[in-house]
Amino acid sequence: MISVDDYRASVTELLGRRDPVRRPLGECAGLVLAEDVLAGVSLPPFDNSAMDGYAVRAADVAGASADHPVELPVTADIPAGRTDPPELATGTAHRIMTGAPMPPGADAVVMVEHTDGGTENVLIREAATVDAHVRHAGEDVAKGTVALSAGTVLGPPQLGLASAVGLDRLTVWAPLRVLVVSTGSELVVPPAELRFGQIYESNSIMLEAGIRALGCEVEIVRSVVDDVDEFRRILEPKLSGTDLVVTSGGVSAGAYEVVKDALTGAGVTFSKVAMQPGGPQGNGRWQGVPVVTLPGNPVSVLVSFEVFLRPAILSALGHTAVSRHRVRARLTERLKSPAGRRQFRRGYYWQLEGEVTGEVGPRGGPGSHLLAAFTQANCLIVLPEDVTEAAEGSEVDVLLF
Ligand code: AMP
Ligand code: MG
Repeated sequence: MISVDDYRASVTELLGRRDPVRRPLGECAGLVLAEDVLAGVSLPPFDNSAMDGYAVRAADVAGASADHPVELPVTADIPAGRTDPPELATGTAHRIMTGAPMPPGADAVVMVEHTDGGTENVLIREAATVDAHVRHAGEDVAKGTVALSAGTVLGPPQLGLASAVGLDRLTVWAPLRVLVVSTGSELVVPPAELRFGQIYESNSIMLEAGIRALGCEVEIVRSVVDDVDEFRRILEPKLSGTDLVVTSGGVSAGAYEVVKDALTGAGVTFSKVAMQPGGPQGNGRWQGVPVVTLPGNPVSVLVSFEVFLRPAILSALGHTAVSRHRVRARLTERLKSPAGRRQFRRGYYWQLEGEVTGEVGPRGGPGSHLLAAFTQANCLIVLPEDVTEAAEGSEVDVLLF
């Protein structure tokens, strides 16, 4: 048997690191920046008003108050987008809107709320200090500096900043094109009718959702019968253009193990990993394409995804944080675990007010066919290899989804 950590390392090594690609900003969400982004412009690019109001010289309104307003002629109107703001002469005001460029000569903005809003002349009821409500060029980002560094995960603020400094594309680690394959002659794809002895296929849907959420492209083949020739006939033509094949089912110890039968000796190594669920695993290269073969039971599939595939894919995509957040929690009931295997149980974790350590309760038994309980879980409870029993109230490791 191979350890969980060694097996994860082998899957991570198999997937390696992707090549960098340039992509439109709209297709970069969730991906990782492959190189530093330098700001081609300063942000803001020019001094501008932070408020709707009047651009003035602070000295001209130094004595203004509600009781003694200062009246100034309004000599220009500067809406946002105006590119030629005229110079402000001493003793005058320009009406100005938020985001509009400060006119040369002005050094402060008086909010419209502190004036009578006049368009010919304006009564100013409050004094302004130099720089009041002025946003200075470069105070957010200075031109030529690193706006986003390599390794940044691209979410809304990062993509917004890329656009704000004038970019329409970014260089990211290329997402994988993943082929997800469910095997089993018993599988039926909804909504087709189910006959006795058949079940509805669910693994490919789970894997597709999980892998897409990491930013990868996914094609699914939902039911390949347990026949080696059929398996090869359907999948071989799809290998080109695929960066990773993920199969489920057909890798355990019985007869009709189609994945094992088709890929043994074809570059894929099958192992037994010291874990529960998800013991039977395989990975390697089939005609040069990385293949990860997962067991068939739905809970085993999800646990294998969490423990092996998710971290390996994240690492291939350039993420440095590839593990789930791990916390300690007190068990609300006793759990048993097989000796020599790391057990992953679905759990629900919560934190009590004012306490540092949270609590966790199992959801569903250890059976790897119990999918419904997974839908109530927000974490995996990890029981180490040397633990055969964890008492109620004892502290365990929890991986938060
Ligand atoms: P196997 O590893 O192929 O022996 O499958 C183990 C168990 O998982 C069997 O009960 C299968 O019917 C079930 N199973 C395999 N693949 C799927 C699937 N795609 N969706 C739902 N159940 C599956
Ligand atoms: Mg099967």
